[in-house]
Amino acid sequence: MQKSKTSYIGADLGGTKLLIGEIDCDGNILRSESTPSGRLDRESACRLTEDSLAEFMKGKTEGYTPAAIGIGLVGRIDSEAGKWMEIDSADGGPIPLAERISHRFGLPCRIDNDVKSASKAELLFGYGREYDNFVYINVGTGIAAGTVSGGTLISGGHFNAGEIGHTCSGLDIRIPCICGRDDCVESVASGIGLDRCARLLSPRYPESRLTIPENGRVSAKDIFAMYDSDPLCRVLTDNAAKGLANLIMNTVRFSDPEIIVLGGGLVSDGFLLSLAEKQLSSHTMRYVTGGVRLTRLDPRYIGVIGAASNAMPALSQTAKTQSQNIY
Ligand SMILES: [Zn+2]
Repeated sequence: MQKSKTSYIGADLGGTKLLIGEIDCDGNILRSESTPSGRLDRESACRLTEDSLAEFMKGKTEGYTPAAIGIGLVGRIDSEAGKWMEIDSADGGPIPLAERISHRFGLPCRIDNDVKSASKAELLFGYGREYDNFVYINVGTGIAAGTVSGGTLISGGHFNAGEIGHTCSGLDIRIPCICGRDDCVESVASGIGLDRCARLLSPRYPESRLTIPENGRVSAKDIFAMYDSDPLCRVLTDNAAKGLANLIMNTVRFSDPEIIVLGGGLVSDGFLLSLAEKQLSSHTMRYVTGGVRLTRLDPRYIGVIGAASNAMPALSQTAKTQSQNIY
């Protein structure tokens, strides 16, 4: 009888859906299941994750046995203690989610922030196979990054490294941000930012054909599609590209990466990057020998592969608390 191979279960909890998947040791998706989530408070999100995992674990992939569970979540995560600390600062106390999941399913569990999880996927299965020093920047609903230096993902003293969406855009546009500043790059170059800027600037462009819905967000896809024909869309996109270029160059100056990797819904078609690249200073970028590249991992699955990566032994050697208790 053939020996069963090891697999890992990942659960990626985003703003609209929970995606659970089983992956093999090379990061290939063996099976996956998506559940709508909507915006949930953390406790409801934990319950949804636990119940959906229970359903998913009833299924099996022939020839594979799951060794551990990894989870990617929004907000600040103490990945060593396995605690979901907060989404924002007025958000209740830590939730010991890893322990809860581990207890319920009898498997080791590790959790981390969603963008840090995607950065781990990049580290294990993407450009991290070629480069020890890179920054993975996620440009989606918001903007955040994972910085890998010498092959190690930086987490910071409070598990809060990488919140680079809240650094200056370098643009002369003022939009109050939840963080207390009014010139954040997230406010011009993310999904939320494009929506805010469109609402702010649209009165100046009465001829614009861009739809600004009363409920819901302005479509970034529509903005990019009308770049050549609509002056408002051109300004919004040029601002986003300039903000993204400044962010990339600031990141390069700070962390000296060999390559910058971009992921997330706003950059996945390559259009915003093609405009941002024109604004990059060759002097600033001279040591970024790998250039600025879109992730080669499937954008549909990078989150869930990253979530599962949290549970892989290659990345869990420093998990003192959990390893002592569980492994
Ligand atoms: Zn901010």
